[in-house]
Amino acid sequence: MYEIKVKAAFEAAHRIVGYPGKCDRLHGHNWTVEAAVCGEELDALGMLIDFKELKAALKEILAELDHQYLNELPPFTQGTNPTAENIAQYIFTVLEEATCLGNNCRLAAVTVWESPDSCVTYRR
Ligand SMILES: [Zn+2]
Repeated sequence: MYEIKVKAAFEAAHRIVGYPGKCDRLHGHNWTVEAAVCGEELDALGMLIDFKELKAALKEILAELDHQYLNELPPFTQGTNPTAENIAQYIFTVLEEATCLGNNCRLAAVTVWESPDSCVTYRR
């Protein structure tokens, strides 16, 4: 089994509504997102998936989140707090539909780093 990962970043503001502490206040993060794809069969070039294509698909999703107030975006307006957990689940759900994912591989995990020492991984 092969697993490949790409990483990209975005900057955005959020607040955790109802949090009993300072995270309830408006603040921002430099979010780093890792996407992992796994599979067993390589293509004729010996690749599971082209890093470039996977990174482009991830960056397209992150471009929608970059320099936004996340609480005002549709995934997070129905009472879903834009926590690292919910951001990871959202990115996973969108990225798993990316056309660059061939029949030989599937999205395995999305990891969202909220700070250099705190991250969340979402898997199906
Ligand atoms: Zn925060």
